[in-house]
Amino acid sequence: MATSKVAFTLRKGDEPIGHTFHQLITPGGMITFHRPDFQAVLLLHLSSTSCRTHTAKRLKTYLYGQGSASKSESSLLPIHLHFQDGTTATCDLLIGADGVRSAVRATMLRDLATKAQSEGHTQEAQEALAGVDPVWSGLSMYRTIFPSQTLSQQLPGHRVLHDPMIYVGRNTQQITAYPISRGTGINFAATRSHWEQENTLFEGPWVQDVSRDELLHAFDRWEPEVVALFQSIEGLNRWAMHTVRPLRSYVSERVALIGDSAHAMLPYQGVGAGQAIEDAFLLATLLGHSVTTPATLSRALKVYDAVRRPFSQHVLETSRENGQLFTLNYPGLTFGTPQENRDAKKLQKLQDLCNRVRKNWEWCWLTTLDADLERAVKMLENGSQ
Ligand SMILES: Cc1cc2nc3c(=O)[nH]c(=O)nc-3n(C[C@H](O)[C@H](O)[C@H](O)COP(=O)(O)OP(=O)(O)OC[C@H]3O[C@@H](n4cnc5c(N)ncnc54)[C@H](O)[C@@H]3O)c2cc1C
Repeated sequence: MATSKVAFTLRKGDEPIGHTFHQLITPGGMITFHRPDFQAVLLLHLSSTSCRTHTAKRLKTYLYGQGSASKSESSLLPIHLHFQDGTTATCDLLIGADGVRSAVRATMLRDLATKAQSEGHTQEAQEALAGVDPVWSGLSMYRTIFPSQTLSQQLPGHRVLHDPMIYVGRNTQQITAYPISRGTGINFAATRSHWEQENTLFEGPWVQDVSRDELLHAFDRWEPEVVALFQSIEGLNRWAMHTVRPLRSYVSERVALIGDSAHAMLPYQGVGAGQAIEDAFLLATLLGHSVTTPATLSRALKVYDAVRRPFSQHVLETSRENGQLFTLNYPGLTFGTPQENRDAKKLQKLQDLCNRVRKNWEWCWLTTLDADLERAVKMLENGSQ
C-alpha cells in the first residue's frame, strides 16, 4: 500500500478570511499530469509500422454489415465508415473513442432504436434515442492554466504553489487549483452550478472565451488568496459541462464505445481520462487474446461491456455526487455570517460531507483494474458474458 498523503485540502473561501476544514488523505495522494505531456508519452510509443493515423478525418456515420463479405479473409461483412470529407473506408471492428459528442454512439443508438421499434419495444427504442445526444449537467466551469511564477508574484508562498486545493463557498460554487508540470504551471477550474437545470439542453457554444471580469463577478467577495488566483489568470474559457446518460450497452455486434463516447462524466473525481484508458486497456487485452478471432469479435466486445459498463457507470454516478457535495449540496447545510459558519454543528456537517466525498472516491485506491482484467479474460476463455 502506498504511503498516505494529502490529495486535496478543502477550504471555505467565500469569506474575508477563509478557513481550512478538511484534508483529504489518500494512499499515494494525487499525481498530476498536464494532458499534452501525457499524450506525448503515448504517441512516443505508437508503432509507426503497425499504426496509421489520419488526424484530419471526421466520421459522419457508419453502415453496419453492408455489401458482400470477402470469402478469402473471413465471413465478416465489412463496416462502412463515411467521413465528413466525403471519403469512405471499411473495417471489421469499429471502436468509437470519439468523445462526448460521439458519431459512433449516435449511429449505434439510432440503429438500436430502429431495431427495437421494429420489434415493438417502444420504451427500449426511446431509451436508446435518449443516449444519442449528450445532456447539459447544469454546470459551467471556468478553466485555465497559468504560470506558477505569476501566482507567486501575486501572493508569494501561495498554498496552491505546493498544495492541491479545493475552495468551496456560497451559491453552489467551487474552485479547484493545483500545480502541474512539475510545479511550473497551475491548473485552475472554477465551477458555477445550476443543478436545477441538469439534463436540459444548453443553448450556445459549449466552450467560450470569457473575460476575467465575468469570473470576478460570479465569485464576488471571496478571500484574498482566491482573489490572487483570479489575478493570475490571463486567458479564460467557460465550459458548459455535458455528460452522457447511462447507456444500456457500450457495444453492438462489432462496434464498441470507449471513454467519453460511452460514459462522459463530471470531473469531480478527476478520472474521466483514467476511465477511458482502463476501457482501452481491458478491451485491447480481450482483442489480443489468442481465443479472439474475427468470428468471435462480438463475444470479446460483450465481455468488455459486461465488465467495464457497471464499473464506469458507478464512477459516473459517484463523480456526479461528488460534484454535488463539492458545491455544498448537503442536507441541512446552510451558511450565514462568518461567525455562524464556524458553529460546531456546521463544521461537523462539513466533515460529514467530506466523509461522503471520500467514501465515493474509495474505489480509486481500493480497487485495481487487474482484478477486472483477470475476470474478463476468464469470461472470454469460458465463453461466458
Ligand atoms: C473541465 C473538465 C476537467 C476534466 N478533468 C479531468 C481530470 O482531471 N482527470 C481526468 O482523468 N479526466 C478529466 N476530465 C475528463 C477527460 O477530459 C475525458 O474523460 C477524456 O478526455 C476522455 O477521453 P476520450 O479519448 O474518450 O475523449 P476525448 O478526449 O474527447 O477525445 C475524443 C477525440 O475524438 C475526436 N473526434 C470527435 N468526434 C470525431 C469524429 N466524428 N470523427 C473523428 N474523430 C472525432 C476528437 O477530436 C478527439 O480527439 C475532465 C473533463 C472536463 C470537461
